[in-house]
Amino acid sequence: MADIIQLLPDHVANQIAAGEVVQRPASVVKELLENAIDAGADTIKLIIKDAGKTLVQVIDNGKGMSPTDARLSFERHATSKIKSAEDLFQLHTKGFRGEALASIAAIAHVELKTKQASNDVGNALVIEGSQVVSQDVVVTPTGTSVAVKNLFFNIPARRNFLKSDTVELRHVVDEFYRVALAHPSISFVMYNNGSESFNLPISNYRQRIVNIFGNKTNEKLVPVDEDTEVLNVSGFVGKPEFAKKSRGEQYFFVNDRFIKSAYLNHAIASAFEGLLKPGMHASYFLNLQVDPQSIDINIHPTKTEIKFDDEHTLYAILRAAVKHSLGQFNIAPVLDFERDPNLDTPYNYKETVISTPKVEVDRSFNPFKDASQPSVTSTQRSSHTSSFSRQEGHKSSSDWEGLYVGLESKSNESVVDFSEVEFESEEETLSIFNGDHQVEQTHTTYQLHKKYIVSTIKSGMLIIDQFRAHQRVLYEEFLRNMTSREGVSQQLLFPLQLHFSPQDIDIVNQLKADLEHTGFVFSNVDEELVEITGVPVNVPESEVSIILEQLISDVEHEVPDSNFSATDLLAKSMAKSLAIKTGQSLQKDEQEHLVNKLFACKDPNVSPANRVTFVTMSVDELDKKFI
Ligand code: ADP
Ligand code: MG
Repeated sequence: MADIIQLLPDHVANQIAAGEVVQRPASVVKELLENAIDAGADTIKLIIKDAGKTLVQVIDNGKGMSPTDARLSFERHATSKIKSAEDLFQLHTKGFRGEALASIAAIAHVELKTKQASNDVGNALVIEGSQVVSQDVVVTPTGTSVAVKNLFFNIPARRNFLKSDTVELRHVVDEFYRVALAHPSISFVMYNNGSESFNLPISNYRQRIVNIFGNKTNEKLVPVDEDTEVLNVSGFVGKPEFAKKSRGEQYFFVNDRFIKSAYLNHAIASAFEGLLKPGMHASYFLNLQVDPQSIDINIHPTKTEIKFDDEHTLYAILRAAVKHSLGQFNIAPVLDFERDPNLDTPYNYKETVISTPKVEVDRSFNPFKDASQPSVTSTQRSSHTSSFSRQEGHKSSSDWEGLYVGLESKSNESVVDFSEVEFESEEETLSIFNGDHQVEQTHTTYQLHKKYIVSTIKSGMLIIDQFRAHQRVLYEEFLRNMTSREGVSQQLLFPLQLHFSPQDIDIVNQLKADLEHTGFVFSNVDEELVEITGVPVNVPESEVSIILEQLISDVEHEVPDSNFSATDLLAKSMAKSLAIKTGQSLQKDEQEHLVNKLFACKDPNVSPANRVTFVTMSVDELDKKFI
């Protein structure tokens, strides 16, 4: 039989390799920025058009390339950075595989201009889909400019796979942050669609962080500095009170290279133990310098993962270093006292208004009344107390019901439902217990594990997921308010000032109109500050920053499809932030209120994220289990 194996042509091999190296415009940004740094540049300009889909260009003032090198740089495995396998363990450069430019040229239109300081003129090269279109002599400054246009022009499937411009730009900016944070001694400028997004002069590390994340960041940073034989740690951690709900600003650099490491992240989290509210994440910007021989960066094609020889020691040192800093700057007790969680103030507590305790008087109580008719008293007392507490503002239930204030105008009938349910259940009690157990009070709902609400229905039993159900309720209410533009606003006594990175501010600006329809009032949005003077009535002031953070992070991670809408995303995000969570115990009336609200929804069966909100079990099914 004839031989069937053949070598793939270079351009095909390059396209396949490109699949590993280039996933999206941000991958190109990373490779080009790293090449510029390896070339010794101290000024680097990044130009982006249409989130990098149309253009990614990097201009550096590094050492440039000779005309031959310029041509060779696009060959696969063409690198000036290593000569033998041993060099892999002594890496001082970012690149070493020699496949980035070859891969990029296989799937885009590339224009390279480069000149070495010793030459008067430079070289221009145009390559499209691995084919050299032209190579000419040009006048160009010392250094290199690489323009990558029309990414994936020859692989439509990959191009279609790219996310919205917002998402792709977010990835580009993330990559830019990582490189810029690792190199404060290099000046970076970034232009996006013709306007300057960042201008980062050469500076120290603290200043670089502040230049990227905004002036307010300065006061949040606690320095970390620890020099040991195996590891040198330097950088900053964010003070606990500035921790975020999303893992935004968490950066590890090992030998000036950004890496991801869940294990080392855990070391930081454990250093912050007891200082953060549950679910919050500290920010950090930490540089680890280790002997290049003790790491292997070769295990991942995009080089964000790394293998350390002795991870356990690194973990211990890192944890100790961060703890030490937090202690030194009076942020944590230096001695590690066991904390009694009961002494911790609950999250919302400090914002709540303290009200004087109220004495509830049962006006209908008559000590001389015939004790053989307790059931009537019980019913009266129960209904009386519940309306009493609602009018007088019983703290826990009014807090919770506050979530519905202003949303209720159109559906008051559910409140009526609720009182009917209450009487019904009392009657049931009577018939079951025949008045013997007058103190026994059964209701139609029951909360299970602070997670589910169990209720009886005609055919049997209903089990509702409280978090999902409440999300559905709020989601529909928010959508209604946004589309009819009649979200009710509650004026804040003092304007609320929230600080965000310029990137996050962009997102706030995009969503501002929709947010206003829900009831937010913005008095000012500038480069890094949002000032809010009004919030939707159903949003507690203490939750505002969490809602906005969650929203920003949702927009960033949004997977756009054809029917994506900002309004819908906002409604979903706010519903998620504000819904009662698993783990929250609910009073009977709250449970019933939620059940009624859920079934008043247009689509009660699923949560906004399309997950089942409730299941039912019929008496027949139950009977079968008892056979
Ligand atoms: P690697 O960076 O892994 O060596 P690349 O494909 O990214 O592989 O680049 C190939 C070679 O092209 C580099 O080794 C370097 O010699 C040269 N090169 C790429 N970009 C630049 C630049 N901006 N300035 C100078 N030389 C460059
Ligand atoms: Mg490279």
